[in-house]
Amino acid sequence: MTLPWLLFSLIIPPAFAALIWFLARGKKVDPSVIIVLNGLMPGSGLAAVDRPILEVALCVLMGQIGLLVVRGPDIGQLAVFGVVAACWALLYTPWNPLTAQGLPKTTGKPAGGAPDPHTHPVTAPSTDPRDTVGGMANLEQQTESDTPTEGYSVAVRCTECGADVPVPVLQHAARCSFCGSHHLVVGHDDLLQVTIPSKITDTQSLREAVLDHLRYRHYLKLYERFVAPLERQATEVGPTGAMAVRADVEAASTAAESAVSLKADAFRAKIEKTLEIRDSQHFLAPYYHSMGTLFQAAFGRDPRTQDKRLLFTMASLEGALSAQDGIELPPMGKLSYLKTLVSAAQLEAEVRVLLPNNDADTLKNAYGELDRKQLDRSIQTIKLGSSFAEEVRAVVWRPWWTAEFQAAATTESLLIDGASGSVAGPAPFIDSKTFQDLPETARAPGAALHFQPMECPTCGHEFRYEIDAVLHFCINCHRLFDAHGEGKTEIDYDHGTPIPEDAVDLVPFWRFPLQLMTGNGTIITDLRYLKDGIDGKMDQIGDETQQRQDFLWVPAIRCINTRLMTSAFNRLFFHVTSNPPRPIRGRYPLDEKPTPWPVCLKEGEVRHFAPLYLANAFGRRDIARVNVHHVGPWLFDAKLLSSGRLTYLPIPRPVTETFRAYVGRYRGDALAAAQGG
Ligand SMILES: [Zn+2]
Ligand SMILES: [Zn+2]
Repeated sequence: MTLPWLLFSLIIPPAFAALIWFLARGKKVDPSVIIVLNGLMPGSGLAAVDRPILEVALCVLMGQIGLLVVRGPDIGQLAVFGVVAACWALLYTPWNPLTAQGLPKTTGKPAGGAPDPHTHPVTAPSTDPRDTVGGMANLEQQTESDTPTEGYSVAVRCTECGADVPVPVLQHAARCSFCGSHHLVVGHDDLLQVTIPSKITDTQSLREAVLDHLRYRHYLKLYERFVAPLERQATEVGPTGAMAVRADVEAASTAAESAVSLKADAFRAKIEKTLEIRDSQHFLAPYYHSMGTLFQAAFGRDPRTQDKRLLFTMASLEGALSAQDGIELPPMGKLSYLKTLVSAAQLEAEVRVLLPNNDADTLKNAYGELDRKQLDRSIQTIKLGSSFAEEVRAVVWRPWWTAEFQAAATTESLLIDGASGSVAGPAPFIDSKTFQDLPETARAPGAALHFQPMECPTCGHEFRYEIDAVLHFCINCHRLFDAHGEGKTEIDYDHGTPIPEDAVDLVPFWRFPLQLMTGNGTIITDLRYLKDGIDGKMDQIGDETQQRQDFLWVPAIRCINTRLMTSAFNRLFFHVTSNPPRPIRGRYPLDEKPTPWPVCLKEGEVRHFAPLYLANAFGRRDIARVNVHHVGPWLFDAKLLSSGRLTYLPIPRPVTETFRAYVGRYRGDALAAAQGG
């Protein structure tokens, strides 16, 4: 062996490992690099993944021995040591064959399935005040989505059998699950008064909730002390940044968790003997809750081409807000549609409540600045116009309890959420004089949804079962009705002249004579005039041209989601613009057998957002001319002064093909329900 080889063997392996350790500090090193490094110079790969110094030293020593034994640069023999070292490094990569089962466990969750209270707080009473109503925590007080929110269900008394039928609050038709009868559902226009059934009903259930909470608090303390350190040891960050699980420590941690859980049970049993509820108060707090659709027109630029764009779009919106600000209570959170709310009229007479001290209109605050809430994110928005069509608004009387109790020589006051039956946090101070009786308005008959017969009031024929139809078409006498608290009112409508195409769908539209008042008071009745003025100048058709009377046709349909609904609306706009319809006044003649699509939008809602729908009227050349300071007052702030008349138009199948299977918000549900499913 030469002297240089001896020096090389002794000095280079440790020096190289030290260098790699220095370079790789705090960095993620690719697993293949680790294996190659350790294979070329044993110990350096291990140093790269920050293995303990003793292990690195051992590996370096093995490398040194190898070099000394081989006595020279003999690649064949050195390769044997290289492979051994590479396999050594393999253990600290995701490809480790010994922990092949370790891959799915990279989340760091104990394998024993023991609940980890940090990630699964639902297994015990929650200490997060927001995580209360049905576990559906909602940090924001408003949510938007393209799938319509089903909202909550309300119990409605069946007029046939007297049972309380849970009805999703946005539905306009329901089937009694007890006697099978079909009904129209009315009352959506009024402010509903509902309450969440309380899981806490007496002192005993209140005691249980407090005990569960104290147990959980004790459990968390023990967990933090005995289980969490093991958990941290059991899961360590491997070379790829993924978590690897050490089976031995993990087993210890699972065992420790069980022990801690048992201790917590024992703690609960112990304090149960001495726990004394000294004072408790049950009360209801009012929240405003609202659901509807946000319609929007957006002006902006295409992020790629920088072309100007003008789009019409929509989304479902749900929001809630406390109706009183005297006492600070947790926010409403999202109401799960699985939870059935009951009419506030069913509350017992002696119930105590906090009175609302702000108006239902303050709910608009919950939606924030609608004009800043951009729905279509495909463009860089410069200017937005928004219109919110509210479908249902309710006062939700939510049950709360405060409990002052003594346990283990300490006195404490907690706030308990009746809806979830769990502790929400420390009790706020509430002067008992604050509580009042439930206001009479909350028990008024108009403050609830009701069933109404499905029959046509003129001919007695049963309406089709259309779950989200707001107007009801009698396929026998061809009359159209609006159902409301006082009964049914016939609505006049027109229908379009038949078209030559064989396959058509009869689509309901609201037809408005164009009477648009812009934000600065100009009256527009002519679409050419509307398009010309978008740049603030009348330079295309000229100022003198007499405005003709145009019509605006707005579809009255809904689709299963607002993305499809947006595309359906925009397709129908172009179809109607290029094929101006010729309506025939009055009902369909009796010798025809029309089966039109359900009307799902009322005239009032449509009139409000119709100016935004006119965003579709502008062609590419018009949009290129849009004046950013002018588009707001000219279009987004414009109001439609005329009123709409319902008209069914025959639309050729090729136009409706992309969305006809998705018309109606609950189409699937509706079919299932109608077939008795
Ligand atoms: Zn029934
Ligand atoms: Zn009829």
